[in-house]
Amino acid sequence: MMTHFRREASEILAELEAMRALDAPTHGGRVLSYVYDSGLAELDELAAGAARLVQPVNGLDPTTFTSVAAMEAGVVGFARRVLGGAGDDDIVGSVTSGGTESCLLAVKSARDLWRSVRAGSPRVPRIVAPVTVHAAFHKAAEYFGLELDLVPVDPLTGVVSAAAIEERLGDDVALVVVSAPSYPFAALDPVADVASITGPRGIALHVDACIGGFALAFWPDELPAWNLAVPGVTSLSADLHKYGYAPKGVSVLLTRGRDRQRFQYFATTAWPGYPVVNPTLTGSKPAGPLAAAWSIIEALGEEGFAGLTAQAARATDALRGVVAGIDGLKIVGTPTGPLFAVAVDESVPADRRVDPHHWADAARASGWHLQLQPALTQADGTRLPHTTHLTVTPVTEAVIGELSKALVAAADVVRGVPPVDGRALVAGLAETLPGGLDALAGASAGLDSEGAAGLLRAFGLLGGAVADDEAAGADGALPDRLAPVLALVGALPPQLTERLLVELLARVVEPAPGS
Ligand SMILES: *Cc1c(COP(=O)(O)O)cnc(C)c1O
Repeated sequence: MMTHFRREASEILAELEAMRALDAPTHGGRVLSYVYDSGLAELDELAAGAARLVQPVNGLDPTTFTSVAAMEAGVVGFARRVLGGAGDDDIVGSVTSGGTESCLLAVKSARDLWRSVRAGSPRVPRIVAPVTVHAAFHKAAEYFGLELDLVPVDPLTGVVSAAAIEERLGDDVALVVVSAPSYPFAALDPVADVASITGPRGIALHVDACIGGFALAFWPDELPAWNLAVPGVTSLSADLHKYGYAPKGVSVLLTRGRDRQRFQYFATTAWPGYPVVNPTLTGSKPAGPLAAAWSIIEALGEEGFAGLTAQAARATDALRGVVAGIDGLKIVGTPTGPLFAVAVDESVPADRRVDPHHWADAARASGWHLQLQPALTQADGTRLPHTTHLTVTPVTEAVIGELSKALVAAADVVRGVPPVDGRALVAGLAETLPGGLDALAGASAGLDSEGAAGLLRAFGLLGGAVADDEAAGADGALPDRLAPVLALVGALPPQLTERLLVELLARVVEPAPGS
């Protein structure tokens, strides 16, 4: 029976378990980004069982595998009901592989609709969005050949004004995007105000509710209008693998108007194979994440979602209270939903300030993973501060006491420590390089893979020669402290940083040399 097998299944799984043990913990609330733990083991079991049942299915063809059509209709129906489109048959949707794919498709549809009414226009269509819009829209602009016009936000609150968006509108705008809320600062953009400007002009408006959608839908507090109940909103994305508690690989894109949504599709019969009709970017695709999401929705219903959301909301309130009470830190703006960002409180003297990145590193040393976010200079010259991001999930409530203590203690450890001076770090690193700073500055253009790897090694971020500096990690492992890495990211030319990060991530997955 085991004729084709080289190793015992149990042995292989044991090896995988050993690898998994080195991962950041996906459950238990210790990682405050990336993972969304309902805290309900039965829900994970159900989702795994559902995914297992459809494992052999190809989601490519819902007419052959009709379970896919039934589940997708169910998920889209639920999403439409809770995201402001209850009873509105004009709102249609697709299940996608994640937030990025939902955002890419929203842009593709808007671009193709824009083109269809301007046949032959030589203009490059434009996306107008606040600078806080998710990077997925940078990716969409690059992939689909649109210009991304980023509108500065209020540096104190992270919110964009509708007036600032209005100033940017013109005939070349294919899509305006706002967030509900934004990832970096949890700012709820003024959806209704923006819609009242874009709607009458016939400009498409996408609400990116990828992170917040399925939490805001059940949020206990009254919120300003933000979803498809706002008439000018033409599409909305919400991720089921975030506050839908599904395993990764599932999101929903809802679109107002069948005709608008049909631009999302790709179809061709112009090859000798099967007729291709793809609503999303992939061809063959798994049904597992869809089945997982569908089964979770069936299990929880709106009441279950409301209960989990209430837990996350209570934990968020409590955590915000704790952080607001830490001398030297402050919460950015007035965040909406189960996430927020933390910056240094510059209103207190330097010896009482807490650098948010040192704080995150100190918290990490005690087993709590917060997410470091870099500073950003906007087009108008104002600067968005470097921050630390916390995404709060239902399970956070169970560990709130422990987490609160850790956050307070971490601040005590680093209070008064000045932020890492990125420029000094770069200057120090440049000294170790042949050609010095000039070589670094010139390096972004025409850096090949070996050159990029060489720089990473010099910075101590890749195995091999490790420079004597504070960013250095142990032999290719990620460094214990991320504050210096983020400072480096902020001080190097963006193109160089991007090239180096590409190199780092590409090398991480390379097979061992000579293997
Ligand atoms: C997570 C997120 C995305 C991208 O989603 P992925 O599932 O990571 O591809 C887009 N927009 C916002 C606001 C997000 O938080």
